[in-house]
Amino acid sequence: MTALDAPALLAYDDVLATYEPVLGMEVHVELGTGTKMFCGCPTAFGAEPNTQVCPVCLGLPGSLPVVNEAAVESAIRIGLALNCSITPWGRFARKNYFYPDQPKNYQISQYDEPIATDGHLDVVLDDGTTWRVEIERAHMEEDTGKSLHVGGATGRIHGASHSLLDYNRAGVPLVEIVTRPITGAGARAPEVARAYVTALRDLLKALDVSDVRMDQGSLRCDANVSLMPIGADVFGTRTETKNVNSLKSVEVAVRYEMCRQGAVLEAGGEIVQETRHFHESDGTTSPGRRKETAEDYRYFPEPDLEPVAPSEELVERLRGTLPELPWLRRARIQAEWEVSDEVMRDLVNAGALDLVIATVDAGAPSAAARSWWVSYLAQQANTRGVELADLPITPAQVAKVIEFVENGTLNNKVARQLVDHVLAGEGEPEEIVVAREMVVERDDSKLQAEVDKALEANPDIAEKIRSGKVAAAGKIVGDVMKATRGQADPARVKELVLQACS
Ligand code: ADP
Ligand code: MG
Ligand code: ZN
Repeated sequence: MTALDAPALLAYDDVLATYEPVLGMEVHVELGTGTKMFCGCPTAFGAEPNTQVCPVCLGLPGSLPVVNEAAVESAIRIGLALNCSITPWGRFARKNYFYPDQPKNYQISQYDEPIATDGHLDVVLDDGTTWRVEIERAHMEEDTGKSLHVGGATGRIHGASHSLLDYNRAGVPLVEIVTRPITGAGARAPEVARAYVTALRDLLKALDVSDVRMDQGSLRCDANVSLMPIGADVFGTRTETKNVNSLKSVEVAVRYEMCRQGAVLEAGGEIVQETRHFHESDGTTSPGRRKETAEDYRYFPEPDLEPVAPSEELVERLRGTLPELPWLRRARIQAEWEVSDEVMRDLVNAGALDLVIATVDAGAPSAAARSWWVSYLAQQANTRGVELADLPITPAQVAKVIEFVENGTLNNKVARQLVDHVLAGEGEPEEIVVAREMVVERDDSKLQAEVDKALEANPDIAEKIRSGKVAAAGKIVGDVMKATRGQADPARVKELVLQACS
């Protein structure tokens, strides 16, 4: 069999029987600074093309870059949160290449003097165990513009009739975080890759340095994958799958590359070092460009910028601004609430954890807060087709509704109606309760009057109850609930019905 007529993919178990996968993750994060890395242009996503540009980010002759201090501080905080050493003195470097989305013909990046080096990130796998990912470096650079290829079927340059360029993104601050080779994960390599990107995303979010939206490209992941025969001590040739745009896709792309490379190697072929494109639609990858080496880029220190030389005081001040790390916070909350791993995982998967925490912070008991967000509110989000966090109700409003239930002002049924009114935009819960007179009727004499009325209207049922058929009381309770528009405590109504018939 030759490499050409080999099957495209080797079965996953067969890959693992012969080979050890090695991974390397490169994550680019767009920083959430208001302005670009080397000029004062705004960075807002989605603006009209080429409305957020200036001579610096368009690379016009005579323009000079100036470093964005806020971006450097964010990069240092990222480095510290990843347990890296912060370089006391480091220069930017020019990475020279031509591409139309890069008007200067070089990208300002960092090469051998990155801002942060030698760290690690402990990530939690699905079974609760921890995996340590070593971080090689985190460096600062600027983003490129965006090309839009028009006229083809795929949106790629092949087959397009012309291309449009938008330089709004050119010069947006990026931090690239690069791992050391990840070895020894075996069958769990795809899971480790996904868990790493998930943990990194959560960390960057907690640091508040980026909106970390993979769908909008503010978090972009390239996955390097290679295979080596089990027991070998030299890594195989890697491929680099670019811009994998969701957490799930990270896992799918790594697994696919393992099976594809396995098939090539089993057929006696060789892996070529290249970039590959991931296809969201069918989970496959296809060849991109042959990989350049660092020499190709002719890196040299950027002569137009001062070196970045953060003082020890600055670094320590920034260390003091690090938030509680997401996984430590999660463990603390779990202990406080006394709930199982499973409950926590469900909350995280439902996107409810932060909402529940905020609801508890607003004064609600944790059990009630959890129950509202994962049941009634989750249903509402589901029917509207939106994320839980995008429902038009705040944790403080949910806490208010819960307070009304806890102090007996509302029963659960009316509380759900109240939530519906809040979701409909009628205002604050306390205003709606007054405006709609939603308070539970606890005046027994009023309830008694309704009970008497319902019994009179249903003499046959009243008779049944009197003769001991207690179950028949349900119909009377239902009528009273209807007459009071649900604003009664059904248990109390039932007591009054049974008393009246005894
Ligand atoms: P490049 O400039 O080619 O993108 P980087 O050094 O930025 O290279 O990133 C390469 C990534 O791949 C790093 O995470 C590195 O640890 C990892 N890596 C290096 N060699 C291998 C290999 N043989 N197999 C898998 N990953 C590798
Ligand atoms: Mg790289
Ligand atoms: Zn600009």
